[in-house]
Amino acid sequence: NKTFYLDVEVIEGIKATAKRQGVTDSRLVNEIYGYDRGNALLQALAKDLAAFTGTCGGLCARITGDRFVMLIPHREELIQSFYDKEQEYRDKRVIQLDFYIHYGICVIEDLSVPADRLVDAARLAQQMVKGNYENRVCYYDSGVKDKLLKEQEIISTMAQALDNREFIIHLQPQYNHRSGAICGAEALVRWNSPEKGLIPPGEFIPVFESNGFISLLDEYVWETVCALQRDWQEQGHDILPISINVSRADMLKGGIADKLFALIRKYGLTPDKLRVEITESAYMDNPQQLIAEIHRLTERGFTVEMDDFGSGYSSLNMLKDVPFHVLKTDLKFLSAGGSETRKDRILDNIIRMAHEMGMFVVAEGVETQEQADYLLTLNCEQMQGYYFSRPIPVSQYEQMVYTNG
Ligand code: C2E
Ligand code: CA
Ligand code: CA
Repeated sequence: NKTFYLDVEVIEGIKATAKRQGVTDSRLVNEIYGYDRGNALLQALAKDLAAFTGTCGGLCARITGDRFVMLIPHREELIQSFYDKEQEYRDKRVIQLDFYIHYGICVIEDLSVPADRLVDAARLAQQMVKGNYENRVCYYDSGVKDKLLKEQEIISTMAQALDNREFIIHLQPQYNHRSGAICGAEALVRWNSPEKGLIPPGEFIPVFESNGFISLLDEYVWETVCALQRDWQEQGHDILPISINVSRADMLKGGIADKLFALIRKYGLTPDKLRVEITESAYMDNPQQLIAEIHRLTERGFTVEMDDFGSGYSSLNMLKDVPFHVLKTDLKFLSAGGSETRKDRILDNIIRMAHEMGMFVVAEGVETQEQADYLLTLNCEQMQGYYFSRPIPVSQYEQMVYTNG
């Protein structure tokens, strides 16, 4: 008769972030909605969890904050009943915010393992899916432990790395394929670790997103880009815009428009020199906030780009509400399965629709001349991708764009 522990945690995405290591974990729910409503949510949740464990002869307890642990008989279909329950919550709208629960599960196979170890294991499993929308359930196994150790190493070195200026940006040029001219670039961060060499963002950004450090890193990147632009401007160049990335956590913190505006003032730039890429998934956290922030960015004169259009569930839904100027769509979102003609039709229609709605399209992930030429026939001129250039060090970009001309 197997039993398992369940570590339930309200999604990281609704927590405040952006504190240095060690002082994370304040709750955005409490900040935005006040402690009373935060508590009401937890109480409602606790009541239901306890009722639920009661029906299957289990136990439920609150560990701390928004963490609960349940001891219940193991059933395969259990997860589905949790998902259903959550949906009920969202429908009932205890607070005006979608929230999601993350489950870490430790199946008890050896009854001699002490309870606190089991809870730790469930907790570790839960951390694997923290901040993840699609997959919110994780079972504990040895892979979980290895991955968490790696993450722990990233977390324990990140603050020092930022102070040591180990984070550097590379710039990936964007081209107008019709004229052949470079028309801007996107700033992409890398971690240049003295021990491990150049680490790609895929390895650390997800970790920083779930512990909030991403906000500090992003602000650092934004400022670095502004400083570069100022230098080039002071050298008398007619500078091209650079796109910077805004993560979901930044969006939740808010005040992006004011921060960016303060930065361009500080560096003597105009807002058209900075383009703001916001990922599609930010819409799911809090649509109203996203819309308001984009309006503020627009009022300040920034161009707002929707990054990774087509990657999520809400793409089309969002377009009707959110006043983006540019759609960035990555060809890789179209590359998995499906016939070539169907993919082409989708791309054609995305571009057509964007143009009809007064938006520009930037195609990302363009890897072949064939793709580039085809995009031109669809009236999409602005492109970014390995076919034109990989992301390159700043000095190389400088040489390419500002030295020969
Ligand atoms: P993204 O914003 O969608 O950036 C585009 C990614 O596609 C970059 O990966 C770029 O190197 C890659 N790419 C460009 N052209 C091609 C191509 O032709 N083929 C293929 N296969 N890939 C191409 P990168 O630099 O590894 O960055 C990955 C992600 O990390 C970014 O995706 C972005 O979400 C995140 N990221 C990078 N820098 C920052 C940053 O400063 N702040 C935040 N918040 N996120 C960042
Ligand atoms: Ca981007
Ligand atoms: Ca992208």
